[in-house]
Amino acid sequence: MDFELRDMFFQVVAFAKAYFFSEDDGRNDDIFVLAARRHPEPTMRFLKTFLPLNTIVSSIECLVSSVFLYFAWEQYPASCTLRWWLLGYAMLQGYQLPVRTLLLINCFFAGAFGLDQEACVTSILVSAAWRAKNVAGQFLSIWFAFGVAWLISEHRSDCPYLTRLVMAMLLSCAARTVVMVTGFQVLVQGDLRAGMPSKSNHPASMALISKLPTLKFSSSSDESGRVSATLCAICLDDFREGEELKRLPCSPIEHLFHCGCIDQWLACSKKCPLCAHPVDA
Ligand SMILES: [Zn+2]
Ligand SMILES: [Zn+2]
Repeated sequence: MDFELRDMFFQVVAFAKAYFFSEDDGRNDDIFVLAARRHPEPTMRFLKTFLPLNTIVSSIECLVSSVFLYFAWEQYPASCTLRWWLLGYAMLQGYQLPVRTLLLINCFFAGAFGLDQEACVTSILVSAAWRAKNVAGQFLSIWFAFGVAWLISEHRSDCPYLTRLVMAMLLSCAARTVVMVTGFQVLVQGDLRAGMPSKSNHPASMALISKLPTLKFSSSSDESGRVSATLCAICLDDFREGEELKRLPCSPIEHLFHCGCIDQWLACSKKCPLCAHPVDA
């Protein structure tokens, strides 16, 4: 019996480890992953500055909503959509909390356990848990729109506390998003100019740079299996329709960048900024 329990415990631990930490195979091009790979220092600074605030505020939102619903659920008629909205909101926030908390712990304490902090953070960002968190985040933005719509359409004078609480959650959620997006732009994207490699690296020759294949970006062409194809990992801007991109011969996935960004990069270093694959290999 003891053995069975111990086996089960180890299986659960192994499953959790595989779910929350993954090997970075270079295929994931989520903006956070690109930023962590390409700009580890500003990304860590961003996470250390904004993640604690974001995690604490969303924990409080989740806790307050749950306690309120637990005690007040029966007081509202079944037709009251706002209580359902609050329940959905608390669940979507609660679902994101474990992986956020894990990332937060790793950002601050991985170094204390002798682990490579940046590698730990990247392995969480490419994990199935983080991908699921992002899906929950997308649902949350749809849910947010429903919340605004229901709040406007339901002028309920019989549930003033619930209405105020939903309003507070919407405001808090919007404020957190604005702070995170602005913080990312200031700390990570604003830091990119300093992120070019130093001139002392081995540059690629002008002849080689001009020989690399270019293409016009089109969101409808399906090359996603072969190339990382939604945003430029140098400036972290999304590719726009018809923009001229350059393709590097990386393996197993070819990497795409804006022509201007990668030309400037290759004039300093012949290695791909994402995977360090040399362009003349
Ligand atoms: Zn670019
Ligand atoms: Zn590459």
